[in-house]
Amino acid sequence: MSGRHFLQIPGPTNVPDRILRAMDRPVIDHRGPDLPAVVEEAVAGLKRIFGSTRGEIVIYPSSGTGANEASLVNTVSPGDRVLAFNMGQFSHLYNQCARKMGAAVDEVDLPWDGGVPAELVEERLAGDTGHQYRAVMVVHNETSNGATTDLAAIRRAIDAARHPALLLVDMVSSAGSLEVQFDAWGIDVAVSGAQKGLMLPPGLGILCVSPRALEASSKVTTPRYYFDWRPVLEEMHRGYFPYTPSTLSLYGLRESVRMLQEEGLANVYARHRRLAEGVRRAVVAMGLAIHCRRPAEYSNTLTVVRTPEGVDANAVVRLAAERLHLSLGLGLGRLRGRVFRIGHLGALNELEVLATVGGVEMACALAGIRVSVGAGVAASQQYFLDQYAAAVPG
Ligand code: PLP
Repeated sequence: MSGRHFLQIPGPTNVPDRILRAMDRPVIDHRGPDLPAVVEEAVAGLKRIFGSTRGEIVIYPSSGTGANEASLVNTVSPGDRVLAFNMGQFSHLYNQCARKMGAAVDEVDLPWDGGVPAELVEERLAGDTGHQYRAVMVVHNETSNGATTDLAAIRRAIDAARHPALLLVDMVSSAGSLEVQFDAWGIDVAVSGAQKGLMLPPGLGILCVSPRALEASSKVTTPRYYFDWRPVLEEMHRGYFPYTPSTLSLYGLRESVRMLQEEGLANVYARHRRLAEGVRRAVVAMGLAIHCRRPAEYSNTLTVVRTPEGVDANAVVRLAAERLHLSLGLGLGRLRGRVFRIGHLGALNELEVLATVGGVEMACALAGIRVSVGAGVAASQQYFLDQYAAAVPG
């Protein structure tokens, strides 16, 4: 293949050359003098990204699932009740993790086409007059159905019910791409990973932990060792870790938070909004349906596209990879074969979106879907031109 492969799955995302260069160095002594400055800068940058001054950052050499597990073993004891929602594959897996850790998971099954309705949270918590629920678990951006939950509304719902439950949020596919206000939204544990909005290769599990969650961790009885965040925090305060950290990834992480800071977080979020809307306009112009039901919940990091009845969505993904060197995301869990996913997060610009949209049109046509080839690209182009016109009057 000449040219580059288009990695447009909803994570791992494309790693910018600047981050690759920052990681391209000899491995350092993880107990030597170089690490603390790297950790300090990365932690400060992550706090800005999470929107937190009161939270503590914890980093593991793990995938996002490891961070999911850490959020639970440090806050929930076996037998504790937790309120959880199942609206897609990643919420299903997070809830499954809680069950395996011994929690009594009260799971609300939702259609896999939206986020968590805040009214439902308020209703369930208001009904729990004995305050049995230790925690509420929410996936901010459900990477399988393309819906984002309004976390400010979830916080208002918890407050309206006057419930003390901890708020645990999976932000694996939102942190660094969508606005997060950890402090203002009263989040207790935010979970993320390296390979999406942070634009790093996979391999880091990242958490932001509130003082209340820290206090909870000294009381829980769940057996834990590697994922006990207390010794990690103790060492991280000095710039080290109680095990061998992924040192080169930490250099990459420092570069990532520098890049996001240089662009400005408000600009990063605006770029994700703009590129997402460009993709959505294209999908509609092609004559395909966006899977997420409520436009207010459309994710700005990925779009889940339904294929017409009788067309295997997996064929679109396979043909895109085989013929066009374009990686799209498969439908997951219950949505397998019915949808494909376009990732538009991380290091990305307008022309890359146009190429992706062009590839999606061709892959759909190759799979036998009647799309008007070119209509999607034209719709995105027009939208981006309108955005430039609006930004630069005259
Ligand atoms: N949660 C969400 C929302 C995700 O999108 C993912 C991965 O795509 C995960 C959790 C699991 O992360 P990992 O695959 O890094 O373990």
